[in-house]
Amino acid sequence: MAKRDYYEVLGVSRKASPEEIKKAYRSRARQLHPDVKGSGDEAAFKELSEAYDVLFDSQKRALYDRYGHEGVKGNTRSFDDIDFSSFAGFGIDDIIEVFFGGGLRSGGRRGGPEPGAHLKYDLQIEFLDAVFGVDKKVSIKRMEECTTCDGTGAAQGSNITTCASCAGIGQVQQVVNSWFGQSIRVMECPTCQGNGRKIEKPCRDCRGEGLLKKARDFDFSVPAGVESGSRIRLSSAGDKGRRGGPYGDLFIIIHVKEHEKFVRDGDTIHYNQPISFSMAALGGEIIVPTVEGEKLLKIAPGTQTGTMIVMKGLGVPRLGNPARRGDQLVHLTVTTPTKLSSEERKLLEKLAQLRSESLNVAPDKSAPEAGSPASAQDKPIASGKPDDKPSKNGDDLDKQQDESQTKEDPSLFERIVEVFRPKNGEHEDK
Ligand SMILES: [Zn+2]
Ligand SMILES: [Zn+2]
Repeated sequence: MAKRDYYEVLGVSRKASPEEIKKAYRSRARQLHPDVKGSGDEAAFKELSEAYDVLFDSQKRALYDRYGHEGVKGNTRSFDDIDFSSFAGFGIDDIIEVFFGGGLRSGGRRGGPEPGAHLKYDLQIEFLDAVFGVDKKVSIKRMEECTTCDGTGAAQGSNITTCASCAGIGQVQQVVNSWFGQSIRVMECPTCQGNGRKIEKPCRDCRGEGLLKKARDFDFSVPAGVESGSRIRLSSAGDKGRRGGPYGDLFIIIHVKEHEKFVRDGDTIHYNQPISFSMAALGGEIIVPTVEGEKLLKIAPGTQTGTMIVMKGLGVPRLGNPARRGDQLVHLTVTTPTKLSSEERKLLEKLAQLRSESLNVAPDKSAPEAGSPASAQDKPIASGKPDDKPSKNGDDLDKQQDESQTKEDPSLFERIVEVFRPKNGEHEDK
């Protein structure tokens, strides 16, 4: 499909100022972000982000104005692989910050001191802590101002002079020849590393950097409902910027441990509950674990394996809106006994007899008949007439077949389970 015009996507004129582009992006992103109920649209949000990425960058914009999409091909960021849902619960400004750096905030901070680096911390938390939230403390090492020289980088009494190469600006201009012609690139002054100053005697503690690595603890709350990949942003908990620049931020990346019993899918918790064969047929009560502790669960008579029971409101609270909660889904699996005592065996055989069920295909019917092969299997049960003599079939079973083979035949037990199932209307669910 042909790409839409970036100006059209943002809804701005071709003469729009960077401020207008920023404003347009911010207001549209608020509507289109995939987390927004109703108006959220992931594809449109990605398209919008790509348009902003190009038009807010003066160089890319110039190329786009001149050559259209071709001009910025390979030079645009692809937003296709980004899972925006992992930002659930975070403001649009945080998201913009992560993808476009400080550009949106400061709108060009030329000349001013650079903020320090954003830091990342991977935090592993327990399954239940992700469900209910938890208070945490992390210890990180980050750059802070050197206290010996108060961040100047100069030893006491040392002279600080202006850098000759850049005249104290900290940046130099360089002419770059490229496929698109000549352009001027502004880069950090290599002589003073952007400091704009020359220090005669550097501070010994920080070697003239003005910054030193220090260990710090940060306390924060992990909100209820976070998932693996969720990020928590601690403002100004990152590195200190050089030359008096502000602190960067610290991003806590959440990793949730797996639970031995529960499997989580968004707000929903899945739980597998095996039930006995008799309970499946007769119904009853069981105790199941939930994130709120153990709860009583009623099993209806005639429950099939694979039945799902919804335990309302026992799932995960929604991130940012903990009053809304998902459900716990209990998946019931009927367990077939694998070892039978002789008494149990007799009872089941008796039951098969009562239900006029044959457990074997009669020898003369064992050859597949014309039509579907399944019809051969169905036949003995369907035609369970008195002349089939189920007791005789039972005797044959013992004589003809190896016992271990019999036990492992799943279809046999399925049929016995079938025996226990109530017919329509036979049992009413209370
Ligand atoms: Zn310089
Ligand atoms: Zn120092």
